[in-house]
Amino acid sequence: MTSSMTKQPTMSSVLAMQPLQLCATAIDKAYLKGEIKVPVLQGVDLCVRKGEFLSIVGQSGSGKSTLLHLLGLLDSPDIGEICLDGQRIDDLPERTKDQIRNRVFGFIFQFYHLLPELTVLENVLVPLMIRESTWSYFAKRGEYHARAKELIAKVGLSHRIRHRPSELSGGEMQRAAIARALVSNPSILLADEPTGNLDAETGQEIMELIQFLNEDQKLTIIMVTHDQQIARRSGRIVQLKAGRIDSVTECAAA
Ligand code: ADP
Ligand code: MG
Repeated sequence: MTSSMTKQPTMSSVLAMQPLQLCATAIDKAYLKGEIKVPVLQGVDLCVRKGEFLSIVGQSGSGKSTLLHLLGLLDSPDIGEICLDGQRIDDLPERTKDQIRNRVFGFIFQFYHLLPELTVLENVLVPLMIRESTWSYFAKRGEYHARAKELIAKVGLSHRIRHRPSELSGGEMQRAAIARALVSNPSILLADEPTGNLDAETGQEIMELIQFLNEDQKLTIIMVTHDQQIARRSGRIVQLKAGRIDSVTECAAA
């Protein structure tokens, strides 16, 4: 067979052979408003493969953040299961869930959630401080500082390492938050409207960084956005409507 006849594998065909990594099955979630139970998610099934870049889109209030929080163990479903690498994780003891949250997932949010009194370096070190005892943290301090500095350089923020969040632009704060999300070496990055508070140009820069983490670092990414144009930079778009999956679209670029 000549090489011209050999069908080149596409990104999506390569991904289709990857194992399922994180799955939500038959998820129901409701919130109580006073006495009234308000359904937010109803019968949601969603799986992400290792190395995939998935976006979740939908109108405000459609349940995007709720779904992301359930996937990252920040909240628990009323009905249904969350499985990681084939193992159920949503019903584990709180302490085990804390450890999974700290080691498996990296989170980034629209409003960065940096601690205002800490420098960029200290903010990036927070997940490591949380997971270690004081003694163990100080024993590994040199290694951790080197790792944090390397990540701060990777997100292009070395010149701001001793600055506090109030001295940073929105894009710089999001870069610091991304470095913090990566410091525990997560296998899945969960991003909730990561460009939602940024101007278009800065948003593009942050999206380039997120795409780099997916394509070069092979990180699985699940991103919530209400912006269809931003979503088209991912491999697959899941549209939520009133708490249900309305459509799933493979993106042409992937
Ligand atoms: P989206 O991210 O798509 O805008 P959310 O998942 O944040 O939507 O919210 C979906 C619905 O659930 C909204 O009506 C919102 O008001 C409600 N909701 C979200 N979080 C809570 C909460 N902690 N308590 C009560 N209602 C909530
Ligand atoms: Mg939201």
